[in-house]
Amino acid sequence: MLKIKLLKYTEKIILWSCCLFACSPKPSVMNKTNQEWQKILDPETYRIMREKGTERPHTGQYDQFWEAGTYVCKACNAPLFVSETKFDAGCGWPSFFKGIDSTAIIEKPDYSHGMHRVEVLCAHCEGHLGHVFPDGYNTPTGLRYCINSAALGFKKQE
Ligand SMILES: [Zn+2]
Repeated sequence: MLKIKLLKYTEKIILWSCCLFACSPKPSVMNKTNQEWQKILDPETYRIMREKGTERPHTGQYDQFWEAGTYVCKACNAPLFVSETKFDAGCGWPSFFKGIDSTAIIEKPDYSHGMHRVEVLCAHCEGHLGHVFPDGYNTPTGLRYCINSAALGFKKQE
């Protein structure tokens, strides 16, 4: 009898902790393996977003693209930038002066290639998007989020 009671108690604890684990608010980062990403993303997007590559300048789909709408993460569809913040920096990559909100993107120091830059990642899937530079361009923030077209999708304004 005691054994049964004890078992039930243990079960309850397990159930309770499972529920707590599942319900507790966690940052909703997607945990996919590289093999899983490789199946979902096209080769160019995979190279950029998972291997931190860069597309050739002036070649991307959204470099000279000025329709009104929202730019989303190509990998996970999370909204990242709005067209009102896009500007022509002439650098060959889509440029924005800020993210859609403060939680959509992560900024990380990047010391690769002998440079000190700030990497920009999607906060939801941690996919590499590009870099942010403080080089002005007379924008309201003085920042240039230099983003690979291959890391973006676009949702036209209704
Ligand atoms: Zn994403």
